[in-house]
Amino acid sequence: MVALVGRPNVGKSTIFNALTRSRDALVHDEPGVTRDRNYGICRLDEDHPFALCDTGGMSGDEEGLAGATARQARSAVGEADLVLFVVDGREGPSALDENILHWLRKSGRRFFLVVNKTDGLEEQAVLGEFARFGVDRVIPVSAAHQRGIDDLLEQVIPEL
Ligand code: GDP
Ligand code: MG
Repeated sequence: MVALVGRPNVGKSTIFNALTRSRDALVHDEPGVTRDRNYGICRLDEDHPFALCDTGGMSGDEEGLAGATARQARSAVGEADLVLFVVDGREGPSALDENILHWLRKSGRRFFLVVNKTDGLEEQAVLGEFARFGVDRVIPVSAAHQRGIDDLLEQVIPEL
C-alpha cells in the first residue's frame, strides 16, 4: 500500500485521482477537505496494481500530530509500504512541510518527496528549493495536468 500525505491543499487528492483514474477523491480549493482515509487501486500498470490511500492534510504542528485527521494520516503511514510526501512547488517549502518531514523521518517509513503543481514553473529551480529537505528521491509532477505521473509510477512500483 502507498500512502499520500502532506499538508492540506498541496494536491494529494488530485494525485490520488490521477493514479486511480477516478473522481472518488474530493478535490477542493478549501484546505482540509479529505477528513478520512480514502482507498483506491492504481491499475495504470496492468501488471503491477497496488493499493493507494489518500489522507486528509496533516498540519504536523500539533504536538505528536494529535487530532482526528492527523491520526488517520498517521494510521495510513503505519500501514504503508511506501509514503508519498506531497508538497506544493508553487508555494515552496513551508514550516508545516518541515514538521511533517521531521515526523516522517522519525516514523522510519520509506518515503519519496513528490513536488506537485510544477506546471508553468522552472523545474530545476523548484527542485533546488526543496534540496535542503535532503530527501534522496524527489519527483516533480503536475497532477492536474497528468504530468510526471508515469515517472512517479516507474519509481514507485519497484519499491513494492
Ligand atoms: P489536497 O488537499 O492535498 O488533497 O489537495 P487537492 O487535490 O484537493 O488540490 C488542492 C487544489 O490544488 C485544488 O484547487 C487543485 O485543483 C489544485 N491542484 C492540484 N494539483 C495541481 C497541479 O498540478 N497544478 C496546479 N496548478 N494546481 C493543482
Ligand atoms: Mg484531499
